[in-house]
Amino acid sequence: MMRVVLAQPRGFCAGVVRAIDIVERALEKSGQPVYVRHEIVHNRHVVDTLKKKGAHFVEELDEIPDGAVTVFSAHGVAQSVVQDAKKRSLPVLDATCPLVSKVHSQAKRYVAQGRTMILIGHRGHPEVEGTMGQVGAPVHLVSSEQDVDRLDIARDTPVAYVTQTTLSIDDTRNIIDALKNRFRNIIGPDTSDICYATQNRQSAVRELCRISDVILVVGSKNSSNSNRLREIGIEVGIPSYLIADGSELDPAWIAGKKTVGLTAGASAPEKLVLDVIDALRRIDQDIEVSEMDGIKENIEFRLPAELRT
Ligand code: SF4
Repeated sequence: MMRVVLAQPRGFCAGVVRAIDIVERALEKSGQPVYVRHEIVHNRHVVDTLKKKGAHFVEELDEIPDGAVTVFSAHGVAQSVVQDAKKRSLPVLDATCPLVSKVHSQAKRYVAQGRTMILIGHRGHPEVEGTMGQVGAPVHLVSSEQDVDRLDIARDTPVAYVTQTTLSIDDTRNIIDALKNRFRNIIGPDTSDICYATQNRQSAVRELCRISDVILVVGSKNSSNSNRLREIGIEVGIPSYLIADGSELDPAWIAGKKTVGLTAGASAPEKLVLDVIDALRRIDQDIEVSEMDGIKENIEFRLPAELRT
């Protein structure tokens, strides 16, 4: 018999629930079309479901017709995007996660204090592009301790750092230590910009690794927090795989394994976890599914005022 143990917590976070709600309520309220700039959250199944309900996904504002309801994704956008939307008088609903907005505000406060800004994050991720474009001053991006060595900033310069919300806590701590070694006058939020959902899911997968022979992470390839979950499994020496749904499960990964640990990134719906369990059952009918003890999250974020009624 094979045991399947589900991580707790796993899957949707409050920021993702709010972002999806915003698109669904906008569709209900204003009727079609509703345009969403970038994938609302990084999950193909979520995007496809919203497309079927009438949402249009685009990468840039110039793909949106005049007057169409426009939603900014949970990852946030640069000020230039906000201004372009204003110039065109697009009716905007901002689905930026409040925890990402908090990082924007924090970075702006540091810049107002005259500090040189450093962002710890991954180049090209929309959240990073949004944060860099919100600050209104040059931002130095670092993704590794080596990047810290390469920074062209004098040692005595007053600097501050913020972080992307979905990073690995351990990697980020090492980068912060490298920054503190390099600069004398540095302030920042330690690892607390890494959001509660990312931290909780990383802690849960660490626990899961203690009892699992293999880890399956449900999530999309472009989901930052899902990739970090898989990496934690690899770091502790457990074979770990990131899969979009049950169709991507390779029977060879679980052959001979007694315990399969199953988790999901913050943008992956629970129905995809169930889909993976179904796929496991098609391979081995004799499976026992249980859920580990863990933090019960009860965080909710308010919708924008115009959608609350
Ligand atoms: S992972 Fe964290 S920052 Fe990202 S949407 Fe969820 S709660 Fe917000």
